[in-house]
Amino acid sequence: MSDGPTYGFDTLQIHAGARPDPATGARQTPIYQTTAYVFRDAEHAAALFNLQEVGFIYSRLTNPTVAVLQERIATLEGGVGAVCCSSGHAAQIMALFPLMGPGCNVVASTRLYGGTVTQFSQTIKRFGWSARFVDTDDLDAVRDAIDENTRAVFCESIANPGGYVTDIRALADISDSANIPLIVDNTSATPYLCNPISLGATLVVHSTTKYLTGNGTVTGGCIVDSGKFDWSSTDKFPSLSQPEPAYHGLKFHETFGPLAFTFHGIAIGLRDLGMTMNPQAAHYTLMGIETLSLRMERHVENAVRVANWLEGHQHVDYVTYAGLASSPYNDRAAKVCPKGAGALFTVALKGGYEACVKFVDSLEIFSHVANLGDTRSLVIHSASTTHRQLTPEQQEAAGAGPNVVRISIGIENAEDLMADLDQALNKAHS
Ligand SMILES: *Cc1c(COP(=O)(O)O)cnc(C)c1O
Repeated sequence: MSDGPTYGFDTLQIHAGARPDPATGARQTPIYQTTAYVFRDAEHAAALFNLQEVGFIYSRLTNPTVAVLQERIATLEGGVGAVCCSSGHAAQIMALFPLMGPGCNVVASTRLYGGTVTQFSQTIKRFGWSARFVDTDDLDAVRDAIDENTRAVFCESIANPGGYVTDIRALADISDSANIPLIVDNTSATPYLCNPISLGATLVVHSTTKYLTGNGTVTGGCIVDSGKFDWSSTDKFPSLSQPEPAYHGLKFHETFGPLAFTFHGIAIGLRDLGMTMNPQAAHYTLMGIETLSLRMERHVENAVRVANWLEGHQHVDYVTYAGLASSPYNDRAAKVCPKGAGALFTVALKGGYEACVKFVDSLEIFSHVANLGDTRSLVIHSASTTHRQLTPEQQEAAGAGPNVVRISIGIENAEDLMADLDQALNKAHS
């Protein structure tokens, strides 16, 4: 398929990046289950290793199946390039790696996936990096947190699990003035519901484990580059603007222009960190993306119905879903994610911690798992699981207090979901 800017989302989610297999004519993208690729001759091999020619060397770096997925996600997000990797958490490290160095910090939202809060507040310290957490609704606090060692601002478009929508445009204005990139985790919204790059984001990261794959089969991650940041306009990003000793002095930005971040991600990131996506995982995710828009429409439709119904339930204290008229983020959602506020929300039960545990144990259609964005409806009591490592203050800030259950609405019949929730709520309060 030629790169026409005129194709719609439904067409691109099926065709972008893919072409009939040149060797066999296979219409579906084959799973290139191979570690290495035969060089045409020694000269070809040398050119590939010098990054003078683009091609396949070894599957830690690139693989044809993974390459199709990269092009597809980059296209759907409106980026110039993308790098896939082994998980969403790997994508976050891969996104920060070219930007950070010892002593550098990232300014991050307090409302992030629990695992990201742990990764940023604890693990990245081992690299000499740090994170400064701020309430991203307090734009002055965001500005104040940025100092000369800040290398990025990081947020989620729709934050999991608190039903919070980020004002991406406002954060982009702040990061633009500071001349640092804005990184947006678009996992819970997906490019169908939200386009962070069109709102000013520099980089978009994904856990493809969730809605993009959509069926709970494989973990994966992706970093998409908008191609818009001028890495040479400042001395803050030497990995991208200065000579790279591991490539005998090559300057990524000067050589690859808007594709500098993507090439760096493959040539340095995947080469030396090795957080590679395997071709089987890419295959499952490609299968999932073919139906992304159809699934997201049903996810949103079901979430709106179930959240409205839950809000009126006698055992429910409150529901935080930006798709509800009662949500303080309802107006912002209309701008940031006009096709819907996702399918992930939290419900606070009047019976507190005890009722939450009993509720989760009584559900039949909903599975109690540490996952989201599956076709199946899922539920988790965050305070005793995903957000267990967080302090009570961090739990509250993330919308994951002890009285709260997170729900990921699937694409089953909404009536069946409501009946299941109703019987479990009644059991939990008996
Ligand atoms: C799941 C998730 C991650 C981490 O992704 P993994 O694939 O589990 O490593 C990061 N951000 C968000 C918003 C997520 O939901």
